[in-house]
This record gives sequence, structure tokens and C-alpha cells, in this order.
Amino acid sequence: MEFRDLKKQYLVNKSEIDHEIAEVLETGRFIGGPKVSELESELADYVGMKHCISCANGTDALELALMAWGIGRGDAVFVPDFTFFSSAEVVSILGATPIFVDVDSDTFNIDPAALEAMIERTITEGVYEPKVIVAVDLFGLPANFPEIGRIADKYGLKILEDGAQGFGGMTAKERACAFGDISTTSFFPAKPLGCYGDGGAVFTNDDDTDALIRSLCVHGKGKMKYDNIRIGMNSRLDSLQAGILTAKFRAFREHELEDVNNAAALYKDLLGDIVKTPYVPQGYYSSWAQYTIQLNSRDQRDGLQAYLKEAGIPSMVYYIKPMHLQKAFDSNFYRDDDYPVTMNLCDRVLSLPMHPYLTVDEIKEVAEAVASYIKNEQK
Ligand SMILES: *Cc1c(COP(=O)(O)O)cnc(C)c1O
Repeated sequence: MEFRDLKKQYLVNKSEIDHEIAEVLETGRFIGGPKVSELESELADYVGMKHCISCANGTDALELALMAWGIGRGDAVFVPDFTFFSSAEVVSILGATPIFVDVDSDTFNIDPAALEAMIERTITEGVYEPKVIVAVDLFGLPANFPEIGRIADKYGLKILEDGAQGFGGMTAKERACAFGDISTTSFFPAKPLGCYGDGGAVFTNDDDTDALIRSLCVHGKGKMKYDNIRIGMNSRLDSLQAGILTAKFRAFREHELEDVNNAAALYKDLLGDIVKTPYVPQGYYSSWAQYTIQLNSRDQRDGLQAYLKEAGIPSMVYYIKPMHLQKAFDSNFYRDDDYPVTMNLCDRVLSLPMHPYLTVDEIKEVAEAVASYIKNEQK
């Protein structure tokens, strides 16, 4: 069994993907061109933002957004403590300071009450100026944007939606990657919509931001590439990846998103009474980048993971370490007691195999193995 079966996905969609790759090879156009611009407009339409600017990866997408807002030294950017490193790395790259915020124990997403408390504390201390909230759609579930929006308005902050794992998720009102003032995603192969290498995208409704990011991602170009009016970076989605994404995006829309939701529903039926399964609030829809259960303790989690491994079932711990304890950040700056939920989750989470090509038999096999471990442990 595979944790995320990209080989099977390719075999099922082989003729469409091969066709797209051949088309790019035949045009001889490997950077930019119609494949990239057509994909950008399809993605923008789908998420419901006016502009999509593709780039080299999801980390660059976040950095480009912060660069467009001129974030730098002295600025505070609020980031969940329970996320992938990139969400905060980009803040430090630009010389700004990530202020970590604890998360909600049910949704894994940034906790609005903790966010507001951290903003208040930052204002009181007066060392860093609050500028941006990075709201991550962790494991495919959109963050609590109604509350985050209220807080952003109250303190005059911008919202950067890190939708690297969130693409395809939605609420009754909106799709992921349309919740932020700027939203971003990643096309890393294992993400909900992945390419066959690195890729990413930035979304915005603002025309000036769109123009600025299009300049920033091509060496700060002015009228053309050899007219450089600002310091930027080289961050582009290549045409081959755009072709691959065009084919894979079709499958994603036609059935993959629904398939992962069916898989999640079956996991919940089989496991809901045995372990804490993921919570999806009323009116929310996840794209299931991960299916993450919670065990009672680190011992139980580690024991289950070893048991599954023995049974040939892959599982992963996302995430083993809170951001505020990562050595790359100034760990003296943060206090463990600000992050009780994240500290606890890092001990107890386990992500099970999840992808659109998982069979009913495979889901049953995983669920039975989890159930048998928990039952035997209780004896
Ligand atoms: C994967 C990921 C990123 C970074 O995307 P890359 O394409 O790997 O650079 C950023 N934020 C989150 C939450 C992610 O999961």
C-alpha cells in the first residue's frame, strides 16, 4: 500500500498526461507560453480570484506575497505553530519576525482567540509592528476565515492564506485560495493538486498586486526581462509542469476531490468510535491533503505507527515538532506555555494513507489494523 499513490494516479491518467507532455515538447517552448497562461486562468476561475500567477513552488509563492506587501525588518507576521516550516521560513527570509500562534485542537488550524491574544501582546510590547496573518488551510481544511477576517479588520492586518494543502477545499461561500488578500498554493507532487516536480501559484483580486508579483517573479522586470526595476527572484512554473497540471486538474475536478471525500467518509464510519477522527465544521469541505487521527499519547501513537509498519501500512507524523521549537528560529523568543495544543498534537497525531485512488478494501485494511491495535492494547 502507498501513503499517496502517485504511480497509480499516473497510470489511470496516462494518456491525457502523456498527450500534454508531448504537446509541450513539440512546441519547443519550455518557459511561459500558452500552456502556462491557460492554466493560470483556469485556476483563477476555479478558486474564484481574478488573478493567478504561477511560480516555482509554494514557498516562493508565500515569499512573493510578503515581498509584494513590502514586509521586512521590524514587522510581525502571525503564523500557526502547527504547520510546515515554509509558512514561517518566508517571514524570516525577509527579515521580519514570525510570531507563532497556537491552533485549535479539533481543526488543527490557527486558533482565533490565541491569535487575538498574540496580536494584543505584540502591540503592548511595542517591539514589532503587526502586519500580516498567515492562515494555513492545514491538511486540506480551510481555516476559520470569518473569525480571522474579523480580527484582521479590527487590527488593520493583511491575510495571507497559505493554501499549499488547501487547494480544492471550500466553505458554503468560497473556495480555498480565495480567502486571503493574497492566497497561495503548492503543486509539490504530494499536495491535493500536484505536478511532477516543484510548482506553486499566487492568487489575488488586486490588479496592482498581480502586476507587482509578475514583475517580482521574473527578476523584478519592468517592460521586459532586460529592464530590471526592482530586486526580485527567478520563480516560474515551467511549461511541462503546466501541461501536466492541465491534465491532472481535469481529473481533480472530475472525480479526485470527490473520491478523497468518499475515502474520508469511509474512514470516519470505520474509525469514528475507535480513535479521534478529523473534525470538519458545519459548512466546510476539505480537500484531504492528509487524513490525521489523534491518539491518546505519544506512546500509543508511536506503538500504532510501528504496528502499522509491521502490517505493511505506511503512516506519517505531521508534524513532530512545533515551529517555535525549530532551531532555525530564535527559540529563546518563544515560550512553551503559549502553545499547549500544538505541543500536545505533536505527540498524538498520525496521518493515514489518503489519496483519490485508495480502494475500499485498502481503507478497510487500514481501519482494521488500527482497530486491532487499539483493542489489543486495552487488554
Ligand atoms: C508544502 C507546503 C508549503 C511549501 O510548498 P513547496 O511547494 O514545497 O515549497 C508551504 N506551506 C505548507 C502548509 C505546506 O504544506
